[in-house]
Amino acid sequence: MTLTRLDGHDPSRRRWLHGAMALASLAATGPFARLAGSTHWLDDPFRLGVASGDPSADGAVLWTRLLIDPHVPDGGLPPLAVPVRWEVAEDERFFRVVQTGDALARPERAHAVHVAPAGLEPDREYHYRFLCGEAVSRTGRFRTLPAPGLRVDSFRFAVASCQHYEHGWFAAHRHIAANAPSLVLHLGDYIYEGSFGERLRRHESDAPLATLDGYRARYAHYKLDPDLQAAHAACAWVPIWDDHEVANDYAGDLAIDGEDPALFHARRLATYRAWIEHMPVRAALAGGTRIFRRLAIGSLADLHLLDDRQYRDPQPCITRDRVYAGNITPDCPGRGDPTRSLLGAAQQEWLEAGLAASAARWNLIGQQTLIAPFYTRGDDGAVSVWSDAWDGYPASRERLLRHLDGLRLPNAVTFGGDVHAFHVTDLKADYAADDAPLVATEFVTSSLTTDDGDPAALARDLALNPHVRYADCSHRGWLDVTFAPERLDVRLMALADVRDPESVARTLRAYAVEDGVCGAQLAAG
Ligand code: FE
Ligand code: CA
Repeated sequence: MTLTRLDGHDPSRRRWLHGAMALASLAATGPFARLAGSTHWLDDPFRLGVASGDPSADGAVLWTRLLIDPHVPDGGLPPLAVPVRWEVAEDERFFRVVQTGDALARPERAHAVHVAPAGLEPDREYHYRFLCGEAVSRTGRFRTLPAPGLRVDSFRFAVASCQHYEHGWFAAHRHIAANAPSLVLHLGDYIYEGSFGERLRRHESDAPLATLDGYRARYAHYKLDPDLQAAHAACAWVPIWDDHEVANDYAGDLAIDGEDPALFHARRLATYRAWIEHMPVRAALAGGTRIFRRLAIGSLADLHLLDDRQYRDPQPCITRDRVYAGNITPDCPGRGDPTRSLLGAAQQEWLEAGLAASAARWNLIGQQTLIAPFYTRGDDGAVSVWSDAWDGYPASRERLLRHLDGLRLPNAVTFGGDVHAFHVTDLKADYAADDAPLVATEFVTSSLTTDDGDPAALARDLALNPHVRYADCSHRGWLDVTFAPERLDVRLMALADVRDPESVARTLRAYAVEDGVCGAQLAAG
């Protein structure tokens, strides 16, 4: 561990400032002029804030992106690598700096910076910031995870998904920041690539996103939001992507609008790159596009994060002209085909091996969408299922749930999003048998802002789905999860009004899962 105390007279810092001046003097005209002439910036290059994520017991990933104009392709910066210094301190005033380092914000990575300090103490709060010339970023905070194998008495995290910028204010993020959990688990739809429904506020452009520059500008636009920045600064995030970071309901290289698979493949990789550039994730340091990963929270929990978009087979019952149906009849041909996979073979095996090897009290699975079956009755009386969720891949669902059943894991809990509604469900290895035992407890968070759903229809459909203990699509919100060795508590948090930037939030429902007992029990709020 490096122990460096930094102040204004630190010689290494002064040397670096001279370096920045030399860089700036290269720049004479045009956008370069903003950097030229002095080491101070005319505009704050840290307008997008800071973020931390993917914590371990001895570190985390720290993120920022230098940018002056969020809505131009290069962020208004010259095509030069810009040196950035980072600091991690024990105190928020940076008197006790425990690590510092230098990084380069490179133009080919949109001047995003990812660094991964290691060698920190477990289960401890740290503060961090970035410096570039005379500019200093805001301060962020993260907590390292408890040491592997060590008993943990209590751990708290938030689960969130689906934040369409145009549909509402990010008041939920302000509440999450104020609650200061140890983690935010974000299950995707961090951006939306398109507009639909509500236009309470606007994206930076109405044009369909198709290029890397376009997606970068969309991330920048979202990240200008002060409440979102506050939630990132407040704690470490563990994000995974869902569909709207790329395109609605896509499956691998299949876009539902019939886009040419080769073109869509290229677009998909560009969008993954933009996501990785803007998220505080280890994938940014590892290279590649793998985001399924695992975090150990002492001996309390193993948290398995999945990617159910990148490796999935196409949804079933797509018509011959490649039109995706969405709602499909449960007995349509191909739906039950055991060779179709939601996770892909490699990820499935990784998940099964990780679950089998786990010695943790709780096994938590964070993934994109609803796992439990959900039958819907249309106005014409016909029953259908939603083919983009696990209902489109019943063989994958059965394989996972039978695996959990076979392991006799006492405390498996899954978290999902995507469907813009809260769901609390019983996961069973066999839904045909009424008395089949529960093998896991499922909580699906509602959207943070994105609107959807027909409350009356949802209420009617509950009769078709006795394994669903609760469902609500009337509220926007998130999950506030606190767990201990003997009990996991989940509060379904609801905003009073997503159209009000000052909206209050309340506990809509509170559930508990007891150690060794599958199934969510309604608890006193
Ligand atoms: Fe969504
Ligand atoms: Ca989604």
